[in-house]
Amino acid sequence: MNFCSNCGNSKLEYIIPEGDQKQRFVCNECDTIHYQNPRVIAGCLPIYDGKILLGKRAIEPRYGYWNLPAGFLENGETPNDGALRELYEETHAKGEAKHLHTVFSLPNYNQVYLIYLVALSSDQFSKVTSESIDVELFEIKDIPWDAIAFESTTFAIKKYIENPTNKEANIGHLIKEQLH
Ligand SMILES: [Zn+2]
Repeated sequence: MNFCSNCGNSKLEYIIPEGDQKQRFVCNECDTIHYQNPRVIAGCLPIYDGKILLGKRAIEPRYGYWNLPAGFLENGETPNDGALRELYEETHAKGEAKHLHTVFSLPNYNQVYLIYLVALSSDQFSKVTSESIDVELFEIKDIPWDAIAFESTTFAIKKYIENPTNKEANIGHLIKEQLH
């Protein structure tokens, strides 16, 4: 963090504020403490007739890899609505969020995924969208495991295959090994 978003001061200190346990960026002009917290990514596991809808990413990171529709939750939006919005933006498919399927956290990237199991209303979707270079409804046996974009997607799909009717959320995380 280089500038105070409150007053524009460029001299921020990275210190532990009184009564706190963690270092924060603190503005020595206006005394604002800038808390930085993980971001929520809302996503869905879209199911139709036992098949799973995946989109091939049209953007970096992981351009050209398959992923469950997911993206950053917007302010003023519930995760459930965010998941269905991402589904539509990435695949032009529509459906109903049945229940929270996966909570997957990436502490090194400060991200938490909330993935909903979504029953697609039909098998209608667009083959190409502005966010996907390809969209496909995969039979379980055809899931392209070697070309999945992110661990969160692999985790959610594996949990679905293990127990398709389970309604309890699956909790997972990926912590990068320390290099030193
Ligand atoms: Zn300031």
